[in-house]
Amino acid sequence: MTTGKINVSVENIFPLIKKFLYSDHEIFLRELVSNATDATLKLKHLTGIGEASVEYGNPVIEVKIDKDGKKIHITDQGLGMTGEEVEKYINQVAFSGAEEFLEKYKDSAKDSGIIGHFGLGFYSAFMVAEKVEIITKSYKDEPAVHWTCDGSPEFTLEPSDKTERGTEIILHIAEDSTEFLEEGRIRELLKKYNKFMPVPIKFGTRKETLPTPDDATEHFHPDEIEVDNIINNPNPAWTKQPADLNEEDYKAFYHELYPMQFEEPLFNIHLNVDYPFNLTGILYFPKLSSDLQVQKDKIQLYQNQVFVTDNVEGIVPEFLTMLRGVIDSPDIPLNVSRSYLQADGAVKKISNYITRKVADKLKSLFNENRDDFEQKWNDIKIVLEYGMLSEPKFYEKAGAFVLYPTVDEKFYTLEELKEKLAATQTDKDGKLVVLYASNGDAQHGYIEAAQAKGYEVLLLDSPIVSHLIQKLEADNENLTFARVDADHIDKLIKKDEEQISKLSDEEKETLKTTIEEFVPKSGYSVQLEAMDSNAAPFMITQPEFMRRMKEMSQSGGGGMFGMGNFPDMYNLVVNTNHELSSSILSSSDKSHQEALVKQALDLAKLSQNLLKGEELTAFVKRSFELIK
Ligand code: ADP
Ligand code: MG
Repeated sequence: MTTGKINVSVENIFPLIKKFLYSDHEIFLRELVSNATDATLKLKHLTGIGEASVEYGNPVIEVKIDKDGKKIHITDQGLGMTGEEVEKYINQVAFSGAEEFLEKYKDSAKDSGIIGHFGLGFYSAFMVAEKVEIITKSYKDEPAVHWTCDGSPEFTLEPSDKTERGTEIILHIAEDSTEFLEEGRIRELLKKYNKFMPVPIKFGTRKETLPTPDDATEHFHPDEIEVDNIINNPNPAWTKQPADLNEEDYKAFYHELYPMQFEEPLFNIHLNVDYPFNLTGILYFPKLSSDLQVQKDKIQLYQNQVFVTDNVEGIVPEFLTMLRGVIDSPDIPLNVSRSYLQADGAVKKISNYITRKVADKLKSLFNENRDDFEQKWNDIKIVLEYGMLSEPKFYEKAGAFVLYPTVDEKFYTLEELKEKLAATQTDKDGKLVVLYASNGDAQHGYIEAAQAKGYEVLLLDSPIVSHLIQKLEADNENLTFARVDADHIDKLIKKDEEQISKLSDEEKETLKTTIEEFVPKSGYSVQLEAMDSNAAPFMITQPEFMRRMKEMSQSGGGGMFGMGNFPDMYNLVVNTNHELSSSILSSSDKSHQEALVKQALDLAKLSQNLLKGEELTAFVKRSFELIK
């Protein structure tokens, strides 16, 4: 037997890093600007604690394109490196100077905002450059050095005559990456990844008009001067304390984040924790229509003010991914797959924290100004209802602020609703019957009929309402929901005075068989009811249970109930106290009876929006015949 060691040499690994380290080549710029930022923040920290006796000043990072020379320069005024440090930090792949720094200054530097982590960022430069140079001078009193590497593991290190402190990285852009020599492309990248980084970043210059003095004559020409074009805002709102921000600041930041978004957000939630994990951010509730268009302006995830992604799946609870804003946390592991992320304990805690903060905010908005909250209800309900269904932690808290509006815009909490219904709307078993409409227009006749009887009718029109109702019924034993056009409400709700039937049992039996003769057997079940003689003679209802099952199987629910196409089943409720019933009974002419039943059935269908196509055409034709 032989044993041995597999030989992994740098020569083999280097091209791999180059090719596979990051799937996105464009992130090289983010990495190099991050290193320049780290170098600046480290110097800030060292001068702060008195370990570096140099002037910190107002350092700026500069990104410059030399299109003719096919080069990009990234220059900082940070702490620089000595020759020895270049050997240590740059020549050792996967040795992170950032991590070492944080380790060394553990106690004082934990809030310094240092970005680096894995010691791999620098090498991303080779994804776009065929040669990289580093010219650097340390803040320590040591000579500057010049490092050059062409992407092979060989490098050169020689003295340099650089005099100012800091580092300049020069990328010689490779043939296949010349897109990065375009000003527009680089600006786009800086705007995407570096927009809120903590050290000012200069990219080119811009003209600025000097202010006109008060005593200027009409011939005065204001001077234009060239100023540095700073592309970032180093102090974005989320890094500040909530107490230092007002409503206007939050709105202004929203527009800074989404320059193409003109509508104002409804309200915001400032996130700010540092234990047991570190997370800051601001979430905004935008106006959302219930047709949920594809969201382009998404929540952005940052780490120490560096943009990472706008895919926050797994980090933010799913129902909140419809919100906008930023979250910034150095504690989210991003070099792992999303499915792993969801199982990660720390990430679960973050997600729970966000849920809790959102619920708390909603509760305080509700308590502070209920009117305003009610006005916003239609724009936020879809998020909240979805949250109740998908997030048990949110559901627990939702009772305190989730509203149930009536068709005439009164708003009840669930508790208030129960109290209200207890007096008027109970069924035989003492359960509270919540009547609701899903569409004020389509169910108008039914709503009117219910209101005429003094019943309260809710308007629940979100697409997921049938799921929500199902859940509410499961959790509130004494509650049952019925759509206004579901099973006939007089049967549902216990009434003190029963209507007395004008027909004898025998007559009823005859009426039923007569009607059944002319009504399609499949799909309709004929039911006789003794109602007020002014109520409609024929009425179509659909059993609540049937319709809800059908809706739920259609609106997905992840195939929750595993049913395919659910057949439609309707009740044809016939009012035995209506004159028409007597007319049908007393007529001795079969074809006259048939005409009466068919016309009445069609009218009932019409008011339920069920009369369509050929049937509708025939009905209209027949009706004209009748009035001719
Ligand atoms: P990380 O940033 O994760 O530590 P990098 O590969 O990005 O790893 O960089 C390696 C190290 O090189 C840094 O930790 C830092 O010590 C050093 N370095 C890189 N860029 C600069 C710079 N602009 N100024 C000073 N030091 C730098
Ligand atoms: Mg780095």
